[in-house]
Amino acid sequence: MKLIIASNNAHKLIEIKQILGSEFDEILSMREAGIDHETIEDGSTFMENAEKKAREIAEISGCCALADDSGLCVDALDDGPGIYSARFSGVHGDDAANNRLLLEKLEGVENRCAHYTCAMVLARPDGSIVEAEGYLYGEIGFEEIGSNGFGYDPLFVLPERGCTTAQISAEEKNAISHRANALHALLKKLRGEA
Ligand code: IMP
Repeated sequence: MKLIIASNNAHKLIEIKQILGSEFDEILSMREAGIDHETIEDGSTFMENAEKKAREIAEISGCCALADDSGLCVDALDDGPGIYSARFSGVHGDDAANNRLLLEKLEGVENRCAHYTCAMVLARPDGSIVEAEGYLYGEIGFEEIGSNGFGYDPLFVLPERGCTTAQISAEEKNAISHRANALHALLKKLRGEA
């Protein structure tokens, strides 16, 4: 069976192939599958957005499709920025501005607890879906530290390690990430173990 990933992000593809590789004959990015399609992410939850992306690609391709939607949820911000993580500051994907705004919003705030969430949905051409969620828990720091990763990683502190997710390697992050946790949970469901 062929699986198409509703993304062209090379890092996500590697991570997904590592975890789901044994379940499918072939795993392709949208580009590799010759699909050029942009889903309008207008859902009100991570899961709604992931499901919409997966269903659209399964319908277009006639193959199984896997899509994820993820973001940062901060306790003191009522789980915000959440689905708006990429465009928190107004400009899509401006990590520096997003991080500045996050520090501003948390000025003087004691509760720094936060988590990354990832919703992962596999849609089959017959319309059935399998969904799973994964999390990574941590705290928001007081300044940006580290240069690995992306997005909010320089501010996302792993208290038990005493460093941010921008200070660990890609391999270390892939072993604990919300995306990896969601993929492992999905794999269990595909194998009928959950
Ligand atoms: P996406 O759904 O994976 O594209 O993530 C949406 C947004 O959430 C990103 O643009 C980041 O702002 C944030 N985000 C998601 N995952 C991570 C992560 O692992 N590290 C840092 N930021 C993340």
